[in-house]
Amino acid sequence: MKFSVLTLFPEMMSALGESIIGRAVKGGIIETQYINIRDFSKDKHHRVDDYPYGAGGGMLMQPQPIYDAYKSVAGKKKPHVIYMSPQGKTLTQKRAKELSEYEHIVVLCGHYEGVDERILEKIVDEEISIGDYVLTGGELPCMVLIDCVCRMVEGVLDSRETASVESHYDGLLEYPQYTRPPVFMGREVPEILLSGHHANIEKWRREQSILRTAKKRPELLEKAELSQKEKEWLKENGF
Ligand code: SAM
Repeated sequence: MKFSVLTLFPEMMSALGESIIGRAVKGGIIETQYINIRDFSKDKHHRVDDYPYGAGGGMLMQPQPIYDAYKSVAGKKKPHVIYMSPQGKTLTQKRAKELSEYEHIVVLCGHYEGVDERILEKIVDEEISIGDYVLTGGELPCMVLIDCVCRMVEGVLDSRETASVESHYDGLLEYPQYTRPPVFMGREVPEILLSGHHANIEKWRREQSILRTAKKRPELLEKAELSQKEKEWLKENGF
């Protein structure tokens, strides 16, 4: 899977060269390219922004350098183009999984007051937000998106790092986890986890997942798939 990022600050993207995503890039499972939009400016001072028509504060990214940067990475087959934007649909695990099926995604990172509307109409397929707040630029949201999507690509996580038991994958939060030592400051690891009885451990984990979702994020339970038995069990536990 390939990501082409159109940005004014390619150096910011270096965080994706680290850890699990860095390993996937080095291993050739994920390809990343960072295109500096400024390199496509036709202005002699390499300007890429200008004042918005109709006045108002701030500067806006001009459409021409963005379009030319896009053309430099778009092959014969149109890539899926995402604009990171606080006006977009909020990123979810489900959308990340769907996006992991694309061969080539181009991500446009805005800056200043954003981008000229016409570039959105011309090249962008969807706008994605990472939450209802405003950041100075699209680079951090873009890294969040790429990290989240890449984890869904086969081979990026190894067998010990499976995503399918993690929070949000099936609409629930993950169960509590423990590692050594077995007793920490007088607090013991739940006995069942030391029992070696896999079926009982699975059952306990599923119940804990449901329980902590009910406690921490009750609104998620409305969409989660629970059996009738599990719904009744939840009621018995006071939810
Ligand atoms: N004027 C824009 C508005 O009110 O919708 C906000 C522009 S913001 C200061 C600059 C850039 O940061 C945006 O073009 C976008 O790429 C990025 N950005 C800011 N907040 C974001 C968020 N919550 N999710 C995704 N991208 C965001």
